[in-house]
This record gives sequence, C-alpha cells and structure tokens, in this order.
Amino acid sequence: MINPKLLRQFAVEPGSEVSLKDYVTDWTETDEAKELGKDVIKERAAEILAESRKQLSEAQELLYASDTHSVLIVLQAMDAAGKDGTIRHVMSGVNPQGCQVFSFKKPSAEELDHNFLWRYMKSLPERGRIGIFNRSYYEDVLVVKVHPEWLGPGSPAKPDKSFWEKRYEDINNFEKHLSRNGTLILKFFLHVSKKEQKKRFLERLTNPEKHWKFSEADLEEREHWKSYRKAFEDAISATCTKKSPWWIVPADRKYVARAIVADVIVTAIQDLGLKYPKVSDEKLARLAEARAKLEGGKNDDDDETP
Ligand code: AMP
Ligand code: MG
Repeated sequence: MINPKLLRQFAVEPGSEVSLKDYVTDWTETDEAKELGKDVIKERAAEILAESRKQLSEAQELLYASDTHSVLIVLQAMDAAGKDGTIRHVMSGVNPQGCQVFSFKKPSAEELDHNFLWRYMKSLPERGRIGIFNRSYYEDVLVVKVHPEWLGPGSPAKPDKSFWEKRYEDINNFEKHLSRNGTLILKFFLHVSKKEQKKRFLERLTNPEKHWKFSEADLEEREHWKSYRKAFEDAISATCTKKSPWWIVPADRKYVARAIVADVIVTAIQDLGLKYPKVSDEKLARLAEARAKLEGGKNDDDDETP
C-alpha cells in the first residue's frame, strides 16, 4: 500500500479551485522521491501494483457476492497520457466477467440527438461490477469546450459561461444520483507534461509497432494545450465532491501512475466494508442435506457403458 499521507497530495479537495501547476507530473522529481532514488521507487511501484492487483481481484469478488454496490472509474487525460496502459495493467488480475471497459469516441449522429448523458447512462456498471470509462461525459465539458462547433444540434454556436455551469451541475446531479443508488465513483486525471507528451508522440512516429497509435488530429489538439488545461481545471474544480472525488495523478512515469490508480481503487472498495452474504441456518441445513445425499449416492456409474 502507498502511505495514505503521501497519497492525499493527489486527491483534490472538494470545493477547491484547481490549478494544475500545483500538481506534479513527474513525482520522481519531488524532494520526497529524490530521497528514495528512482530505482527504489520503480521497484516499490511494481510491488504495490502487484499487491493491488491481487487485492482488487478479491475486492471485485466480494463486490459481486454482496451485490449491493457497483464501481464506476472515470479516466480522463490529454492524449498519450497512458489511459489504455493504466487500464490494462491495473485491471489485469480481475475476473473479466466482473469488469467492463467502455471507450467513448466522437459521438454518433444518434447520440448527438439525445441529451449529452444518454450514451453514458447506457453503459453504467450493474451492481457487483466495476465499470471503467476510458473518456466519459467529461469530454462533454472538455473537448467540446475547446471546440464548441462539435457540440451538435440544439446547442448554441457560442456557448457562454452559464452553458458550461449548467453542464457541470447536470454532471454533479447525475453523479449524486448514481452515488445514492450504490455506485462508488472514482475519477482520475492522468496528469502528463507537454514535454512528456511530445516524447510519446515521437515514439509513436518512430517505432513501427506504435505507428497505429498516432493520429494527426493528436498534433492539432496539442496546439490547444492551454485551452484544454483550463477546461480541465474548470471541470475538476466544479465537479469534485466528497462522494465523487477527483484524483490528479502524476503520469510522466507510467509505473507511478499505475501504482497510484490501483491503490486508490483498492482502498476505496475496501472502505465500503462489504461482507459476503450471511447464509441462513435454514439454508445451511439444506446444504448439509444436499451434501449427505450426494455423498451417499449409489448411481455414480450410471453413465458408464457396461
Ligand atoms: P481516442 O481515445 O484516442 O481513440 O480518441 C477519441 C476521440 O474522441 C478524442 O479525440 C476525443 O476528444 C473524442 N471524443 C470523445 N468524446 C467526445 C465527445 N463527447 N464529443 C466530441 N469528441 C469526443
Ligand atoms: Mg488518440
């Protein structure tokens, strides 16, 4: 486990005005990390990730057995911050039946003809399951805030401040509704630096096995870095609540980001204090009866040819 005191520095205080410059992108460059040294951190991060994976698998089983809660994990970031890799590494130990990942791309014409939350509502995790949103309804206050022309029919050509404030309010109400109905919500912003993004884009352009990951649109969006940053700050400030908190995760080192995300998820599920359903005395008696019947059976050879 990561020291809870250390972890708190990545948690956004509900109601606070977020300024991303106050959050590091490379945790290994901080004074507390330098004391440990990069090699030790890398090793520790791998241990934490391995430990969390195991605990997450157990936590998910308990989540399924108790059938009272679901977990919604929201992942947002600039391009190449490592959302896909984080999902792959953090969830690799979980029973595939207990976990669903949904990636949201540009909305279709049908989706744009509905309210902006519609397509996400259809993908929410049921009780007992962990649902991961690789991008989410937050895109509807991020990418379209940078590009209002992509908002779709029925939206103003030049949305004003109150337009976005209403969307934040809709999101807060939506999350409150989910939380009241047993969904644990955890939101992560993978915080990558512009410099590290450049490095990862160059890697995609150089390494043939990574070419497929590169899209020219990514370079265009990079030009809007400042506008995205501001949109993230506004959205995170407006929607961080106690029941639906944001974590700003330093993502320049993939191993650091993965260890933090895994630890936060495990701790939050464990804090739900779930229990395996208690079996009634009557059911226990019936189980004993069934066992006696099975053990005393004489027809074990029925399916064998004489
Ligand atoms: P990727 O995740 O790299 O496959 O890219 C998905 C693309 O879909 C990104 O450029 C997102 O900005 C875009 N996208 C996702 N959600 C929305 C949305 N609600 N409105 C407009 N574009 C979106
Ligand atoms: Mg992309």
